[in-house]
Order: sequence, then structure tokens, then C-alpha cells
Amino acid sequence: MKAIAVFPAHREVKLIEQEEPVITQPNQVKLRMVEVGICGTDKEICSFAYGTPPAGSDYLVIGHEALGEVVEVGAAVTHLTPGDLVVPTVRRPCPHEHCRSCRAGHQDFCETDDCTERGIKGAHGYLAEFVVDKARYLHPVPRHLREIAVLVEPLTIAEKAEYQLYPLMQRRPPWIDPEVSERAQGRGHTALVLGAGPVGLLGAMALRAREFETFIYSRQQAPDPRIEVAQAIGASYLSSQELPTSQLTARVGPIDLVYEAAGHSLLAFEVLRALGPNGIYVLTGVPGWQTLIEADLAALFREMVLKNQVVFGTVNAGPHDFSAAISDLEIFHQRWPDAVRALLAERTPIEQAVERILGRPAGMKSVISFRA
Ligand SMILES: [Zn+2]
Ligand SMILES: [Zn+2]
Repeated sequence: MKAIAVFPAHREVKLIEQEEPVITQPNQVKLRMVEVGICGTDKEICSFAYGTPPAGSDYLVIGHEALGEVVEVGAAVTHLTPGDLVVPTVRRPCPHEHCRSCRAGHQDFCETDDCTERGIKGAHGYLAEFVVDKARYLHPVPRHLREIAVLVEPLTIAEKAEYQLYPLMQRRPPWIDPEVSERAQGRGHTALVLGAGPVGLLGAMALRAREFETFIYSRQQAPDPRIEVAQAIGASYLSSQELPTSQLTARVGPIDLVYEAAGHSLLAFEVLRALGPNGIYVLTGVPGWQTLIEADLAALFREMVLKNQVVFGTVNAGPHDFSAAISDLEIFHQRWPDAVRALLAERTPIEQAVERILGRPAGMKSVISFRA
């Protein structure tokens, strides 16, 4: 079968032929891959910034944002049958007894450096025609979401952020009105999303679905398909080329929540200074090495204390976040079908995957599609 692999020692990325995997344990499931999304992580692995092959292998099959179709199940698998669509999780637990998170099934909060990540670290990924995995790592997806379900994994970033956000919102009683349904918990609050890539736009959809007044702040200027998506979901788009960070508060009002998805440390820092009283600032972008920034830390910390602010970083996703992403995608699909589809404008066959990953992205989100 075909797969896309990176050979770090030879600094090579190529299409390879590999043995088809087989079920060896009763709790396993064999999947035919349907689609795999490409993100910055894949590009960085293919530029050899990181990415670790499994022990004993000189290559790593990449791909972690996947949608697969069940083709075979082990004898002990009861909740999946051939034909079901599933999204696999990425991270697998570390082996250590003392890691409380992994032992509790929350490897997204692993306390050691020894968990593995399919397609990233120590385990082959999903850019292959077939994969085998344990049933408990597979989340079933309704068939009518087939066209967009490759967005589940990138959406889990926002879901995990939100999972952590609500307890923080509750620290200030008026933030959450017990009379208001869970779906409307953003009502009356202002959120600013930094960055208009897929993670930013999916985060904005999640915020809009909870009735946050949502602004997206990014460098693109109209006309741009990202701005059209922002408008379609009822968010207001602000271009950083037209509105400097120093004028954000004057334009937007007090910012209750910042969802950072740009990975740009100077921008993130400048926008932190615009965070409103009792504001919460969520960092999801991983900045690359950038020029050193000089900052008045005393002024920054003083403001954070005097305004009761919270800043937290978030990465990976747990089982709850995958289920939440599938439910949310269903809502996005009902409310903004065209905007969701616009993120996935073009599909690339696996034969051209390497050129797609190394070259310019196709539309907002590059997707490698396998023939049925
Ligand atoms: Zn990704
Ligand atoms: Zn662990």
C-alpha cells in the first residue's frame, strides 16, 4: 500500500510502498483512510524540525488529522462495524505508572516526555492507505459529515481550550448565568481570535456557536476567502494592516477572551496588553524562533494582577474534546455549510501529496484524499 514517509537521517520525504497492516489483537480495528488534513506540524516534520520515527524504523509515516472508514474489526470490538466512519485521536499514553494523566486516560495532559503521537513522535501516522488502531482511540462520525469530518482533529484545539475555559469563566459569577443554556454561554461577552488560518476560523466558529461577539484579527486584507468565512459565520473581521493593536480596545471595547491561533509572539504580546479586566487569554499557536522582543515585564505583570487576568497555553486533545468537536461540527454544518466547506476547497491525491505538503497549500486547508 502507499504511504507518505519522512526519512530524517537522509532528509527525505517520499511516497513509499509498505506492507498493509493487519489486526493482531481482538481490540483492534482496521481502517481504510478516507482523507488526511495537512497542517503546519506536517510541514515542520517535512522540513526535519522534529518528527521521530517509531523505534527500529528509519522513517516516519506522517499525517495526524484523519478520517477513516472501518473495514475490519477484532473479535472484542463491539461499538464499531465495517462501513463506519471514524476519526482517530493522535496521542497515546506514556508507559509510566507515576504519570497520573496517562493512567487516567488523559494523555493530552501527559506529565512525562514519553507519550507517543501518531504521525509525529514515535508512531506511524495516517497518511497511508490502511491503518490499524485500538478501537478505544477511534471516534465515530455520522456519515453525513463525511465531506468535512477531516476538520475534527484541528477543531479539537478549540474544544480543549473551551473545556478549560468555562471553569475559569465561572470564577467571576456574572460570566455564566445559570439561566442561560450551555450553548449560549458566550452571550454578552467579547472574544478576539488572533489569526485567520483553519485553527483560528474553527475557533471563531466554536465561539460564534456559543454566542460570543467574535472579532477575528489577522493580517489579510479584503478581498480574501478567509474574510468571507469570517463574515459568513457572523464574526467581524479586523485587518492588522489597517488597525494597530493599540487601537483594538477603542474599536472592539473591553476584550473578555483572546483565542490566539497565529503563533506570532510579538503580535500575541501586543494583544495581551489589550486584554480587558478579568480577561482570559488562550495561547494555541507555537511560535517559531523569532527575533528577541524587549518588553516591560513589570508593567505587563502589574496589569495582569490588577485586572485579574488569566493566560494559559493549550495543546493536544483528550477523548472529551474529540466528541465535542464532532458535535460542534454538526452544528457548524447546519448553520454555515458553505463556510465550513470553503475551508476545504481542494483535495490532492496521495500521489501528489509530497508536492502539496512541501509547496503552497491548496486553499485554506490542504487535504490529501484517498480514492474509494
Ligand atoms: Zn495538525
Ligand atoms: Zn504520561
